[in-house]
Amino acid sequence: MMGDRQVMQEGLFYEFSIERYVPEDHLLRVIDRFVDLEDIRLQLKPYYSAMGRPSIDPELMIRMLIAGYCFGIRSERRLCEEVNLNLAYRWFCKLSLTDPVPDHSTFSKNRHGRFRESDLLRKVFETVLARCIAEGVVGGEAFAVDASIIKADANREGGGPGVDGLPPEILHRRAVQEYLATLDEAAFGGSTPVEPKFLSPVDPTARWTRTYKDGAAKYSYSVNYLIDCKHAVIMDVEGTTAVRTAEVHSTRVMLDRVEARNHIKPDRLSGDTAYGSAEMLNWLVNERGIEPHIPVFDKSFRKDGIFERSDFTFDAEDDRYVCPAGKNLRRYRVAGRAAKAKPPKDGLYRYRARKTDCDNCPLKHRCCPKEPMRKILRSVHEEARDVARRIMASDAYATSRRERKKVEMLFAHLKRILKVDRLRLRGPNGAKDEFLLAATAQNLRKLAKLSIQGALPAPE
Ligand code: SF4
Repeated sequence: MMGDRQVMQEGLFYEFSIERYVPEDHLLRVIDRFVDLEDIRLQLKPYYSAMGRPSIDPELMIRMLIAGYCFGIRSERRLCEEVNLNLAYRWFCKLSLTDPVPDHSTFSKNRHGRFRESDLLRKVFETVLARCIAEGVVGGEAFAVDASIIKADANREGGGPGVDGLPPEILHRRAVQEYLATLDEAAFGGSTPVEPKFLSPVDPTARWTRTYKDGAAKYSYSVNYLIDCKHAVIMDVEGTTAVRTAEVHSTRVMLDRVEARNHIKPDRLSGDTAYGSAEMLNWLVNERGIEPHIPVFDKSFRKDGIFERSDFTFDAEDDRYVCPAGKNLRRYRVAGRAAKAKPPKDGLYRYRARKTDCDNCPLKHRCCPKEPMRKILRSVHEEARDVARRIMASDAYATSRRERKKVEMLFAHLKRILKVDRLRLRGPNGAKDEFLLAATAQNLRKLAKLSIQGALPAPE
């Protein structure tokens, strides 16, 4: 006999417990073990008035944002709807069945006010990172760095040529004010003297970038991750303009910050060729004592059969190159000139052969067929580049190359699972906020995953 269900949704009294309803193995239950926002409350206290109506609890807003970013819900309007309806979200946010959910406008008011003034989202990220370190999932020996392009919330149609600048009637906009404030910062406007091809009036800090697989250019930012290779925990995150010099500079900022904040300096850093400039390698090797497991950025390779720089032998003691014909290439031929010379402005020493040697050389057609003599350029930081080259030939480098892929996997997770492939907030501060929240969510999910796998001590 077909059953007939009695529908009685109008009941007034229920015995219901959210605590019992949320499954023990729900992701938010596991994540909750690692979320401790007590310090956040203390940090925010000076930003609240001692009088007046009580505000929305900042811990509630942070918990809502964490839940949203962990499940790819970045729209604050949708997040409020989800928390209102989803019992697991209510449990994580410590709301009862009847507690009201804050209005979505509360988030934007706090984001532009107290949260930004107190740098709250970075504090939340650091709190979660400190928990990762306390749980022993950070090795601290090998770090990897990489950057990924994230589309900005700006369309091509609204943009104008970069040389035209911005119309005066939009200078009051928040995103434009932030753009003007960051014009000299190394992470944004100060990263390159090159004018952007197009400038977006809604988010002028976003860089017109053509690095997408479909070949189309879009307004974008770069998200930079510095990770610990043991369990791919994100040690630091930086938002920059989508320019390589800004990305490389952010690596220095992140390494310095991790050392100052967490007292952790890695033995080695791996990255791709973008980080293999002479200046960066010199900074790592000579200033920070970190092994660069980074391919050397080298443009001396030749495909036309002409001798490459590697065909010349460098004699450090005598400061000369020896060519394949056994002749010397020197920086200076006059005694005492080297001691008086200033460092070259472009960072490159020039070693030249004698014209008389090259004129009579049988190898000239393979060495300098169009020049009177051969010239070799050598970076002022060539010793650091040599250190990186020696590491590239080692077995440890093969391991580092594999470990480097962990950053790329985090970016893939960021875009596909957390849905951060296009920013929702505008301006450099909006980009930083979103990247910090996403990195916090990724670290929390990492802790939860390791906990579920039994790689962490069981909760007491
Ligand atoms: S051309 Fe000059 S630099 Fe080149 S191999 Fe001959 S002597 Fe040496």
